[in-house]
Amino acid sequence: MKYILVTGGVISGIGKGIIASSVGTILKSCGLHVTAIKIDPYINIDAGTFSPYEHGEVFVLDDGGEVDLDLGNYERFLDIRLTKDNNLTTGKIYQSVINKERRGDYLGKTVQVVPHITDAIQEWVVKQATVPVDDDVCTFYIESMPFIEAFRQFQFKVKRENFCNIHSVSSHLCQQIMCRCSTALENSVKEKISMFCHVEPQQVICVQDVSSIYRVPLLLEDQGVVSYLSRRLNMPIETRPRKML
Ligand code: ADP
Repeated sequence: MKYILVTGGVISGIGKGIIASSVGTILKSCGLHVTAIKIDPYINIDAGTFSPYEHGEVFVLDDGGEVDLDLGNYERFLDIRLTKDNNLTTGKIYQSVINKERRGDYLGKTVQVVPHITDAIQEWVVKQATVPVDDDVCTFYIESMPFIEAFRQFQFKVKRENFCNIHSVSSHLCQQIMCRCSTALENSVKEKISMFCHVEPQQVICVQDVSSIYRVPLLLEDQGVVSYLSRRLNMPIETRPRKML
């Protein structure tokens, strides 16, 4: 199993969800099986109790799960059916750890964020990554500290060739780095981002505004994302996708 973690700032609307969906789409077009997990930092158990004015419409999955609308993007881009456990929240993780504590599963230990919450996050991701299909790649994105610590540990657990991080930023703020911007970045800007972020200029990918979000996978593929991921994650895939949207 290969894991691609998409991280990004807390600013909503940068395009993290579209980037995660698009990376999954180009890998699926290369013949890989892809699934997606969305990780949200809030303490709500699910998105069903949110105000749509703050988070947008709730997306309802086939199993009745009320989840973040990014799950809808994953289903449409990847043509898969997800379950409610594909949307992980701080609330769900704490609830599962507290339930285990009440059952006595920790055998008198002091239950703490590290390692118990961070272990529970990693176990959840490993388990969910194999549902509902037998997957090769799992893309997901995160925002909050216990999750960041969990994946800092996770990269060593699953080994370097199975884990890659894509960080999405906006050109106004500024690893593979994907930069949302209104127009394509000039080489000098890519070089500057590369220098300050410790990545090669080729690892700085420009995700400029396009007329349809379904063009984003093509934008990424044109900038060599497939060949980069293929090398980085040691995946024997064609660098030219067989079939694009
Ligand atoms: P985030 O996950 O960071 O909150 P989303 O992925 O949901 O952001 O994207 C926010 C909005 O921006 C969506 O309406 C999406 O359709 C749009 N969007 C994302 N990337 C692009 C792009 N490259 N060109 C045009 N619109 C985009």
